[in-house]
Amino acid sequence: MSFDNRRDNRHSGFGAPRKMFKATCADCGKECEVPFKPTEGRPVYCRECYQKHRRF
Ligand SMILES: [Zn+2]
Repeated sequence: MSFDNRRDNRHSGFGAPRKMFKATCADCGKECEVPFKPTEGRPVYCRECYQKHRRF
């Protein structure tokens, strides 16, 4: 049994680099990074504000 091998497999799943796009939060004005390309005309929120807006 190889526990090290199991750990490696789990790790490689997170190893893929994610493309992040810089954006400005439409709520607090803070610079943030989002995992999707910000669409013009659509507000982009930072993680904190996004959660806040999702609740309402
Ligand atoms: Zn914000």
